[in-house]
Amino acid sequence: MSIAQNIADIEKTLEGTSCRLIAVSKTKPASAIAEAYEAGFRRFGENKVQEMADKYEELPKDIEWHLIGHLQSNKVKYIAPFVSLIHSVDSLKLLAEINKQAAKAGRQIPCLLQIFIAQEETKFGLSETEAIDLLQSAEFDTLENIRIVGLMGMASNTDNNAQIRQEFKGLKQFFDRLAQTIQHPRVQMQELSMGMSGDYLMAAQEGSTLVRVGSAIFGHR
Ligand SMILES: *Cc1c(COP(=O)(O)O)cnc(C)c1O
Repeated sequence: MSIAQNIADIEKTLEGTSCRLIAVSKTKPASAIAEAYEAGFRRFGENKVQEMADKYEELPKDIEWHLIGHLQSNKVKYIAPFVSLIHSVDSLKLLAEINKQAAKAGRQIPCLLQIFIAQEETKFGLSETEAIDLLQSAEFDTLENIRIVGLMGMASNTDNNAQIRQEFKGLKQFFDRLAQTIQHPRVQMQELSMGMSGDYLMAAQEGSTLVRVGSAIFGHR
């Protein structure tokens, strides 16, 4: 199967849902992205700042770049001028740095709060309480160059589909609750980023608006 065909097949399965596909191109060469680009696809996800910045330089400028991996404050400056959406915001400190670099770049950067939903110690993310505290903090209110447009979550790495579905349902519930309770001009609950190669269909059924699919498109890493 070609990369373009894999993308077309996945997009077909998402037809009729409100879910869009992000092709996760981490570790894959720019030529693999170019192949998808030539087939008309524009939305790509990377988990490392340096890799994303290098690919941005090399590839056409109308690509939508999604940063999906853990982001260190000292690296924000390398992607602030061009990143489309940062999925992995997990602290107010990071958000303040994104705000600073966005202001320098003369733009507003859309971000998602990454919420911890897995039964694992290793995944990054905020608890629900931490997310609410962040959004209600006085400091957040001063960050005029960022917008929070939704939430991101990673389910447990398990074969237990019932557990994964439960984690997606929980994140969707929290998303809906924030949509109803947070009144702030720079907070809109529009995007729910959940689902990867193994579980994107389930995620779409549970209300995901952005699935992040890598190996099912580009093959094993
Ligand atoms: C790598 C990665 C993905 C894609 O994983 P696949 O299983 O290859 O689809 C999705 N989200 C994040 C945060 C990732 O790091």
